[in-house]
Amino acid sequence: MATFDYDLFVIGGGSGGVRAARMAAETGAKVALAEEYRMGGTCVIRGCVPKKLMVFASHYGSAAADARDYGWDFEGGSFNWSRFQPALHAELDRLEGIYRQNLANAGAKIHNARATVKDPHTVALSTGKEVSAKHILIATGGAPYVPHFDGCNLAITSNDIFNLETFPERILIVGGGYIACEFATIFRGLGAHVAQWYRGAQILRGFDDEVRGHLAELIRGHGVDLHVGLEVERMEKRGKRVWVKGTDGREDEFDQVLYATGRHPNTTGLGLAEAGVELGRWGEVKVDDYGQTSVPSIYAVGDVTNRIQLTPVAIREGMAFVETVFKGNPTKPDHELVPSAVFTTPEYGAVGLTEEQARKREPVDVYCAAFRPMQKSFIGRAERVLFKLIVSKASQKVLGCHIVADGAGEMIQLAAVALKMGATKADFDATVAVHPTMAEEIVLMKQPTRSH
Ligand code: NDP
Repeated sequence: MATFDYDLFVIGGGSGGVRAARMAAETGAKVALAEEYRMGGTCVIRGCVPKKLMVFASHYGSAAADARDYGWDFEGGSFNWSRFQPALHAELDRLEGIYRQNLANAGAKIHNARATVKDPHTVALSTGKEVSAKHILIATGGAPYVPHFDGCNLAITSNDIFNLETFPERILIVGGGYIACEFATIFRGLGAHVAQWYRGAQILRGFDDEVRGHLAELIRGHGVDLHVGLEVERMEKRGKRVWVKGTDGREDEFDQVLYATGRHPNTTGLGLAEAGVELGRWGEVKVDDYGQTSVPSIYAVGDVTNRIQLTPVAIREGMAFVETVFKGNPTKPDHELVPSAVFTTPEYGAVGLTEEQARKREPVDVYCAAFRPMQKSFIGRAERVLFKLIVSKASQKVLGCHIVADGAGEMIQLAAVALKMGATKADFDATVAVHPTMAEEIVLMKQPTRSH
């Protein structure tokens, strides 16, 4: 029988890779992990975590204005990037340290190097070393994609935001997905002038149409100069600024132009195709339900497989891999009813089907309430929150839940438990309201707004 240096070699120290390495090592397996940059991956180093801290920072300006309208006497101030940024990086350093420590405590060896696949059981490290492993797990995540056009090299991506030396007073954000919408309201909340250009007819393609329209209105109401049906034609450096020409002929100048036009799987130069691993159109690693690639000893989890690009999903996939390969318990990661939140201001939390998806499948009742929440209406703010349930006419099961409100990310986590348990509309109705809250609306909607 062949002997290997390791039972498992993980390439990539992000959420999925680290969880799989740690859990495999805890079974007693001999595990190593290679990371070419910083431990923690996109989520910890340049994604969810620093983004959420910026979301928090972005709320204080409007909170101060609200506080004044609630009777507080104090002078407002402005956001100081050079004070926030070192604190942000100190926190990321702390979290990276925890990731390293947890892996070390579990007994996994960390190689601070780039790793490539040489053959189905061999990994080559940028240090010149080669190691063999019974199983190789590809967990290299994704990387921001910027389309090619005249001046595209002047664009920054979400990778660059947290390292900007100066705060951009005028920023153009290109795209209409999670990252574009989130950073539009973050930068606006921090005091920047923000323009957002999206090529399609409405932002957040793939989400519920009614909510997309509602959120676009709120994003505009928040002060973001949002344009749909508009793309960048070309860009030039003009002094310290970037001059931008739009496809409708408009011209403008910005301190930064942030491209949030999707993320592609990070497989370039990894040696996967050469080792016989089948890749898809975008370079994604093709896997079966258990995460196994076309080469039996090589598995993949997380964004590199281009299924659902979310941290908790990558973690679940990593855990399912360990169950399957190291615990003799074949486990498919569950990709059904995955909740998520877009951390705009206000947030959008969603779980299950959109109205459009649901009505294509079966007859549905739609319950929707949009209203001015107490906290904001008291001080004359016009913005409306939205609560929406999509219910199967036949089974009465709630197929989708959509919430736009401050704290919707927190609310949807709890609603997702109910949907995962198969809750019906009658279960929602039978639940007593928590009063006075916004979320009580979810158990108080008596008549369908429409039926299909
Ligand atoms: P998304 O796929 O969400 O959005 C990409 C956007 O870029 C879309 O609006 C798309 O338009 C547009 N686009 C794509 N190609 C081009 C092009 N050539 N020119 C102009 N526009 C283009 O990707 P993001 O980059 O926003 O985020 C990546 C992933 O990361 C998300 O899908 C999500 O899974 C994850 N993420 C999750 C977060 C969360 O959970 N809160 C936060 C941030 C990211 P069109 O719709 O027309 O294709």
